[in-house]
Amino acid sequence: MPIDDKDSTHASGSAEYREGLELRRLLTSGAWVEYFEELARATNTEVSLQDSQGTQIFLTNENSFCRYVRTLGPDIVNCPASCWQPAQLPEIPVYRCQAGIACFSLPVEKFGDRVFITGRGGFASYGDLQGFLAIIRQHHLPGLPVSTPLYFTELEGLKALPAYVSLSVNRHLNTVEDRYSLEEKFFRITSLFDSQAFGTLSKSPDLMYRYVLDTIEFVFGDTPAALLTLDRGQALYRSVHAVGKDREETLRLTLAPDIALMKRIHDTKSAVFFEDLRAVLPSGLGEAMKSAYFIPLFVGEDLPAVIAIFNRDLSREDMKMLNAFREYVQMNLENQNLRRTALSSGKADEKLNALADISRAIVAILDKDQLLSTLLEKSLELLHAEQGSLMILDSDTSELVIEARKGRDDAVQEKMRFKRGEGISGMVLDQGGALLVEDIEKDPRFRQLNRPRYRTKSFMSIPIKIEDRLAGVLNLSDKVQGIPFTKQDLNLIELFIHNVAIAIERSLLYSQTERLQKLSITDPLTGIYNRRYLNRRLSEEITRYNRYRSPFSFIMLDLDKFKEYNDTFGHIAGDNLIRNLASVMEKSLRTIDIAARFGGDEFVAIFPQTPKVDAIQISNRLKEKIEKSMAEHNADMPLSISVGLATFPDDASSIMELIEKTDQALYLAKKGGGNRVVYL
Ligand code: GH3
Ligand code: MG
Repeated sequence: MPIDDKDSTHASGSAEYREGLELRRLLTSGAWVEYFEELARATNTEVSLQDSQGTQIFLTNENSFCRYVRTLGPDIVNCPASCWQPAQLPEIPVYRCQAGIACFSLPVEKFGDRVFITGRGGFASYGDLQGFLAIIRQHHLPGLPVSTPLYFTELEGLKALPAYVSLSVNRHLNTVEDRYSLEEKFFRITSLFDSQAFGTLSKSPDLMYRYVLDTIEFVFGDTPAALLTLDRGQALYRSVHAVGKDREETLRLTLAPDIALMKRIHDTKSAVFFEDLRAVLPSGLGEAMKSAYFIPLFVGEDLPAVIAIFNRDLSREDMKMLNAFREYVQMNLENQNLRRTALSSGKADEKLNALADISRAIVAILDKDQLLSTLLEKSLELLHAEQGSLMILDSDTSELVIEARKGRDDAVQEKMRFKRGEGISGMVLDQGGALLVEDIEKDPRFRQLNRPRYRTKSFMSIPIKIEDRLAGVLNLSDKVQGIPFTKQDLNLIELFIHNVAIAIERSLLYSQTERLQKLSITDPLTGIYNRRYLNRRLSEEITRYNRYRSPFSFIMLDLDKFKEYNDTFGHIAGDNLIRNLASVMEKSLRTIDIAARFGGDEFVAIFPQTPKVDAIQISNRLKEKIEKSMAEHNADMPLSISVGLATFPDDASSIMELIEKTDQALYLAKKGGGNRVVYL
């Protein structure tokens, strides 16, 4: 029987925690539940979520007629079998169930999971109502409960509703998925960037190419991909490494430099996509390779290698990621070249060599503040200058923010902000070109008195560009010997900035991703962790248990009679109490424990490496502390709490089971009158 006779909130609560079922977790989270509730009320429809077997995950606005029919049993009306129809996307079946009710089942697929959003309205027609009354007579049933509202929902008219739901659900899911996958890939790629391996490997092009493909395999799984390098003797690009499916085949690929495909790569200087490979590849690959992206690795005008990724649709985010990766590889190739020419010319060019080393060092820094201040410091060192600042464009406010500065007197240290267009940096940013001023008092663009803060009258402002976007401005002044900056200085620093632009972008992206991550794991009201983080931590604890065999305990805690408190003192006071409880909980627990808000007035905590006997003690202490604080803050209506406790692996063998068992213990605590700790 798919219809859960427990209340629907609890039914959804347990279904959410099956690992990997991200889609149902999302659709049963607060905002979506509200959406479904509103939609159901506004359209007079019962809305439920079902899995592929028809098992109910969530239900709202229960149709009282359906509730009545469900009590009749499958011999009279087979509710579950006829009121839900499995369908493939994009089909959205609209149909009537055995009882004559108009229904729809909308399949939704994402994250490797599939659920159905099912809606049930009124009778499909007057004839259907008559048909149902005939069933009642035939089985001598007591008749419809008088309170059951009878209304009609024409099948034709019902079609618009699932179409609308499909639109909004899918639009939302696509954005969520993009963000998840972007975050995930970003972390995967940066973790490879950061491994010292790249620095070492880049000394040997062959190893580096292999590494590049390994990275691609890491990110795109078994998608076929190959790396082709230029065989200069034969004037032919040959596949030297391949990963993913059909390696034998992709290893045979060759490309002549003069074919149209290569011309297009040279013209665009960026990745190109061919939907029908056979139309552009004269020698041809076998049947298996249909489409391909070709991603060039340029060193200046030279094209030593090309990456090919086959049979895969890359999203915009994928392309962004690949472009960042490409620039990084190119930069390493360029550095190698610089080094080689410097060495072969016999008089190793100190500056270029230093530049390559510094670039490599900088690219390894992930932390934004550290990266930007090192960047400024190294720029000053390269040019023997004393003062400088580095400003980054805040795209939300269009302001330039000083992210790093170095002066002779470092008095002004806070992050100052300037409007775009304001001051010299603003001008540089707006015009997009670098500024080299030998003497500010004589330069016709300024003719202004040198400010006392500066020792010399010469300075440079260089825009920092990432691809074609302006990201910030680097200002340098006061060359040590008191001499003006030269064109060579400007060239050198521009080369340097170009080399590290990718690192800057990565660190800016990284800090943004970190922020997103943080947001996504904290509860907005209390600032403590939310369910999402809890799930992650629970699976970590289980991994830890598998390794070290130390049991851990888990509690769920719920305020007693909190509704009454809300009704008496209002929601704002209720919110304050919840916030206070969260903070007391965090302060009272040990540093290794994890507290999280489960939702509403329910909180949870994980006690790592804690057997049940200890967990009982900790829970009782926690209960006392929380209640004491509540008594101090709300003397008029002191509340108590109930706690359910379970231990892994004593009581459960999976996350889902652990949560269910703890929930059971909490239920028993409530059933016994609340104000107690119950363990299994
Ligand atoms: P019980 O003793 O069985 O736990 O009953 P209860 O009154 O505490 O009610 P229950 O736990 O079933 O429901 C939680 C109530 O908490 C529902 C709602 O009124 C209130 N609540 C949930 N979330 C919030 C919130 O964020 N702020 C406020 N002010 N109240 C909330
Ligand atoms: Mg409660």
